[in-house]
Amino acid sequence: MTPAAGKKILIVEDEKDILELVKLYLEKEGFRTCTATTGQEGLRQVHDAHPDLVILDLMLAEMDGLEVCKRIRADPHTSMTPIIMLTAKAEESDMVIGLELGADDYVTKPFSPKSLVARVKALFRRLERKQEEPSRYTYGPLVLDLARHEVKANGRDVPLTAKEFGLLEHLLRNPGRVMTRDVLLNSVWGYDYYGTTRTVDVHIRRLKQKIPLLNEAIVSVKSLGYKLKEQ
Ligand code: CA
Repeated sequence: MTPAAGKKILIVEDEKDILELVKLYLEKEGFRTCTATTGQEGLRQVHDAHPDLVILDLMLAEMDGLEVCKRIRADPHTSMTPIIMLTAKAEESDMVIGLELGADDYVTKPFSPKSLVARVKALFRRLERKQEEPSRYTYGPLVLDLARHEVKANGRDVPLTAKEFGLLEHLLRNPGRVMTRDVLLNSVWGYDYYGTTRTVDVHIRRLKQKIPLLNEAIVSVKSLGYKLKEQ
């Protein structure tokens, strides 16, 4: 038994042969699966079936994989769902956009089902390691201590407001991942907060003023939101 056995994986792929093959290999490894052949159906399944991971083909009719990925990430209920994107070699630039939009990994076609299964397992292992909640996060000379509720940069205390602290914590928890303004707003300010997404921009700016190394480390991603660069 693998540690990931029993986990539910949604496969969104319009090529039936590939869909069946991937499904077969995953089930052989003890994963549960659900499937969709269009972007819309995939998105619906993400909401209804609550998969632990999504394998998402980039080239889908009507709503393509990038759009599906973007929508999964933009919805606070599904934003943390791990995604592996299937791309063709010729779509390398799309793959880069896919990763920017928050796909956790990608596999280029043609691929062997075995290698895809290996990537799935590797991603679950990575996520499980992440879930062992650390009590502190470090990023270069920056240390955020959750228990003490303090932040130090180069050994010096950085006084932050509660919201600035929450925002920084959220970014440090998700390096390399695009966090949309909506997700940040909901995570840090809460669902009942009636502010605008501009609030997030203002607080990011303040964080950067207080901690200069974040000027380089936090990048804004098109019209979506922010990302803490991976170290
Ligand atoms: Ca396809």
